[in-house]
Parts: sequence; C-alpha cells; structure tokens
Amino acid sequence: MTHRRESRPVFVGDVQIGGGAPVAVQSMCSTNTGDVKATVEQLHRLKDAGCDVVRIAVPDKEAAEALPEIVRQKPLPIIADIHFDYRWALAAIRAGFDALRLNPGNIRDADKVKLVAKEAKEHGMPIRIGVNAGSLPPIRALGEGELPPSLPERMVDAAQWEVKHLNDAGFNDIKISMKAFDVPTMVEAYRRIAPLVPYPLHLGVTEAGTPRAGSVRSAIGIGILLAEGIGDTIRVSLAADPVEEVPVCWDILNTLNLRKRGATLVACPTCGRIEIDLIPLANKVEEHFTKRGKILTVAVMGCVVNGPGEAKAADLGIAGGKGRGVIFRKGEIVKTVDEPQFMSALIEEGEKIIAEMEAGTYTSVSHNDDNVIPLMEVPAR
Ligand code: SF4
Repeated sequence: MTHRRESRPVFVGDVQIGGGAPVAVQSMCSTNTGDVKATVEQLHRLKDAGCDVVRIAVPDKEAAEALPEIVRQKPLPIIADIHFDYRWALAAIRAGFDALRLNPGNIRDADKVKLVAKEAKEHGMPIRIGVNAGSLPPIRALGEGELPPSLPERMVDAAQWEVKHLNDAGFNDIKISMKAFDVPTMVEAYRRIAPLVPYPLHLGVTEAGTPRAGSVRSAIGIGILLAEGIGDTIRVSLAADPVEEVPVCWDILNTLNLRKRGATLVACPTCGRIEIDLIPLANKVEEHFTKRGKILTVAVMGCVVNGPGEAKAADLGIAGGKGRGVIFRKGEIVKTVDEPQFMSALIEEGEKIIAEMEAGTYTSVSHNDDNVIPLMEVPAR
C-alpha cells in the first residue's frame, strides 16, 4: 500500500473528508425526496448499515420544499444533489444541508454561481463537482494536426473548468468525482486529476450495474485507486436498494485494510476433504458477527489440512473434522465440540471476546496485523 495522496480537508457536517481522514462511505437515497417519511426512514437504514454521508436528489420545487423537514429529522450528514436550477441549491443551503453536489457549468450564469458559492461559504458547506464521462462538454476546436483528447483527458478538462467556475466565485471548499461506467476510463481519469488539484476525491464507478456485476466493477475501480493512495470517500452505485451499497463499500475498505468495521469471515471454499456441513455454518457465523458490529476475524474451516492454521490466525475459529470441531481463540485451543454445538460454541466464545473488547481488555488480531493501517481519528474541526 502506498502513502495516501494528500488533500485539503472538507467537512460534510461532522464528517471530515480528505486531509488524512478515514475514507468515508457514501450512498444516495432512492426515495422521492418530497416523501419526507420514506426519505428519513431510508437515511436511518443507511446509517445503521454504516454509511457516513448520504446524497439526496433535489430535482424540483416539491423536493426543495421538503428539505427543511428532512434536515430536522436527519440522522447523519446529507448532501443535496442539484443539477441545473440554482434555486434548489439555495434552498438546500438555507434548509441546513451539509454539502452540495453541483456542477457550476450546468447553472450557466456566473452571477448565480457566485450567489450559490457565497451562501455555501457563509454556511461552511463544501461543494462536490461531479464529472461524468457520459455528460461532458463538446470537444473544443482542435488546432491543425492536434489529436482529439482521450475520454479521461476530456474528463480532467471538464473538472478543471468546473473548478475554475467555483474558484472565480471565490470558493475553494471543493471535492471532485470523475465517474465513468468503464473502469479503465474511470481509473485513468482519477489518476490524471489527482496530482493537478489539492481537493479530496470522491471515488465511484457510475451506473455500475446490478449487485453482483456492480460490486465487482466497483471493487476493481475503487480498489485500484485506493491501493494507489487515491481517494477520500467512496460510493458503490448499484441498481438495488442503496442500503446494499454500504456493505460493499465496507468490504472494499476492509479488504485493503484501510478502515475496519464488523466481522471479517475467513471461510474455506470446501473441497473433497470436507467433513462438516460448512457452508450454512459460515453463513450463520457471518450473519451473527456482522450484526454484532465488532472488528474481529472469524475463521470457519472444513478440515485438518488448512483449517487449524487459519483458525489459529483469527480472533475466533473453528477447524472441523469428522463431525467434531476444534474451537480456537487467538491461536489457542479452547475446546472441542460436536457438530450440533458448532454455532452455539462459536457464539459463546465470540461473546466472551466481545465483552472483553467492550471492557478494553482485548485487542483484535485485525489491529495487530502489521499490514493494517491503524484507524485514524478524525481531528476536531
Ligand atoms: S480447509 Fe480443508 S476442506 Fe476446506 S478447502 Fe481446504 S482442504 Fe478443503
């Protein structure tokens, strides 16, 4: 893992983005914004799933009118997503939203951009510029013999053009996204913009698809960049309930040891040596310890070949064999149990570990691994 790219911090409510803060997890409400009850319910579900910040579309007057009540009931920082109408940006600022996502070029009036920038600045609200490969300005006139720019180059030009609009309006509290459906295009666009601006970058593969394909595509695109130290906040865009996006974000961060949340399950894929009914057990263990929300590694292994080694390296593990299983705790054998007691024994030992964690007397192996970048505290604002 390389060092993370340095960026100027912005604050979305009390969530710091950039400036060395932990990578923030984002999603977007799929409800009709005018339906306050449904929107607030979804915000709560997203927060419970582990989302840090949520974006809400403000496409019309009905949505704009709902904003003050949404702000009154919001359980976490929210960003207003504005497209063309500067009035909805002003409505979001005045309602007390925490940030805006808008492209000043879409507003097409320098005075209106200045007004939005001035009010956003007065309210301490950052603005995300969202460049999308599917909606770029036309290619400028080319000089003789000049080659047309590549798609990532056009995306970078568009981002710089949008940044200039805000800078000209005296605004500098910016973050940027450079989304594309095509992963190599998206990766290249972020790599190119990263050294050119001081702002935090919001990573995402746009319209990534249904849960399986979209998760893979997002994990590759976002993962490549995070592994290179690029990216301060992420969203996995899925054609699904947005709550499904959040665990995928966390899986990406967990996998890269960038930020930990909940249980990490080590489970063998099973093979002809398997001697226990492993797959239902692995699913139940993952469900139970994910819900418990503590950072710990649990290994569920099927036989004596690799089982004991992996089970020993986890906080809690089981290595099965011929209807019996050895329960390990941080490498130490705790007990041997019959197969019907596997789940209850793992829960019992797991709960003891969690109780010690809560008492501050237990350190998870997830924190001891030399490869783990320690979680960073968010500095006080
Ligand atoms: S742990 Fe054992 S059962 Fe599981 S995949 Fe490896 S060899 Fe096969």
